Amino acid sequence: MSADVEQQRYDLVVVGGGINGTGIANDAAGRGLSVLLCEQADLASATSSSSSKLIHGGLRYLEHREFRLVREALREREVMLRKAPHIVWPLRFILPHQPHLRPGWMIRTGLFIYDHLSRRDSLPNAKRLKFDGNGPLVPEIQRGYEYSDCWVDDARLVVLNALQAQEKGADVRVRTRCIDAREIDGEWEVTLENRLTGGRDTVRAKALVNASGPWVESFVKGNAQRESRYGIRMIQGSHLIVSRLNDDERAYILQNRDGRIVFVLPYQQHYSLIGTTDRRYEGDPSQVGISEEETDYLLDVLNSHFVKKLGRDDVIATYSGVRPLCDDESESPSAMTRDYTLDLDRHGAPMLSIFGGKITTYRKLAEAAMQKLEPLFETLGAPWTADAILPGGDIDSRAAFAERLAREYPFLTTDQRERFASSYGTLCLRFLEGRESQAALGYPFGAGLTQVEVDYLIKREWARTSDDILLRRTKLGLLFDAPQRQALDSYLEGHPHLAGHALNSAAV
Ligand SMILES: Cc1cc2nc3c(=O)[nH]c(=O)nc-3n(C[C@H](O)[C@H](O)[C@H](O)COP(=O)(O)OP(=O)(O)OC[C@H]3O[C@@H](n4cnc5c(N)ncnc54)[C@H](O)[C@@H]3O)c2cc1C
Repeated sequence: MSADVEQQRYDLVVVGGGINGTGIANDAAGRGLSVLLCEQADLASATSSSSSKLIHGGLRYLEHREFRLVREALREREVMLRKAPHIVWPLRFILPHQPHLRPGWMIRTGLFIYDHLSRRDSLPNAKRLKFDGNGPLVPEIQRGYEYSDCWVDDARLVVLNALQAQEKGADVRVRTRCIDAREIDGEWEVTLENRLTGGRDTVRAKALVNASGPWVESFVKGNAQRESRYGIRMIQGSHLIVSRLNDDERAYILQNRDGRIVFVLPYQQHYSLIGTTDRRYEGDPSQVGISEEETDYLLDVLNSHFVKKLGRDDVIATYSGVRPLCDDESESPSAMTRDYTLDLDRHGAPMLSIFGGKITTYRKLAEAAMQKLEPLFETLGAPWTADAILPGGDIDSRAAFAERLAREYPFLTTDQRERFASSYGTLCLRFLEGRESQAALGYPFGAGLTQVEVDYLIKREWARTSDDILLRRTKLGLLFDAPQRQALDSYLEGHPHLAGHALNSAAV
């Protein structure tokens, strides 16, 4: 960069477009900072779309005495239900009880603490259950408990935070990798590479936030060339998707003999999500994939609880992610802390690195990040995110909004109405307004996805590839066959807004 070209200046450059990076960028922009967020691939393309999709206190973490984390997480359930009623909703969990596992008194105590550790406005209490042998569980399981947590569409939560950050003035750049960060005159000079064009840009920032998830430690040591005070341990977790195992909307939390727990979650209309595993991972985080051993482990836990027995052939799809946990030197992956650690390095230009965290507590993590950065920015605004609705969340409930769609757009199918209500909320009006028929929605790609929605996702939600659209923005991927995907790829390739930069999903 020649000295006579004026570089763009920001208060904050945030590296990483997962939940923590977008949450921090959003909070910071709303407090008046000028922010640039860069994400090397798609928003939520790494850990933040591979989670179990729960906003939960984590009943299991009580065993590890993580009371601070559990209390904060339990409180966030109510906050998130208010902030994002379109993509977050209550979920009842069934916990089958077998006396040879955790004793009944321990479970009852745990559930009592879970119910009372923080204030609940809407979620119902835990209760005991008796099974009559006619349900989906094996007849040996006769008793259990039921308690509350919440579901979230993880990838959409990330996009909504990016959208809100942009509304507040942040510069959001996807497919943009931070390849170098060096200190000049007490500030950061950050080099960004556009992965579609190969073009490079350097910008200046007063502070750098390293929210690169599984890459956090390598970013400190490699890109920023500093010492890292904390280490990261990558813990792989995988999920199976199978045909729906139970005919209601309740989830199951299964206790395995090894002390681990496995969730069976209602997923979309027709599927169940089974996960997760917990095992150390050493490879490239972007290449993580399920092993046969993990598949068999999950199927074994499932088969020892459910009447219906499943084999590998019943698995429709899988996904894996890497938890970027702060290395606390625990022996077992499941005992490692799920709490977050924020490391502000002020030796020279300030860099805040984020270690660990959960989707559930991203908003509190962002507030804690702002508290760390406060001494650097005299005019920093007050906390604001607890009461701010995320884009599209200005609805009474998903059901009420789906009914409004039925009245105003009677040509929509039931599946479209329900999906729009629980993915977009009022954001869908941006592509529906003025349309009076299915034909007016343009080319039907399949499973209710039409041209106007795809155009909206490209223009307003940073979608570039069919994976962005099918796996993260809409989660319609399971319903698409190869020719339908091909048609979507062809459309993206010719899309004027993408100007030839709709590369295939694997490339970016
Ligand atoms: C299997 C599994 C299940 C989970 N279940 C839950 C759950 O149910 N509930 C819950 O609350 N939490 C859950 N979690 C935890 C939660 O998913 C993670 O804590 C969270 O997603 C981490 O977000 P992040 O933003 O730190 O990281 P990421 O989502 O990985 O984001 C980091 C981003 O940084 C980008 N990046 C890296 N380097 C660069 C660079 N040089 N330039 C630009 N961009 C860069 C990456 O591409 C990536 O998108 C689960 C995690 C796993 C793995």
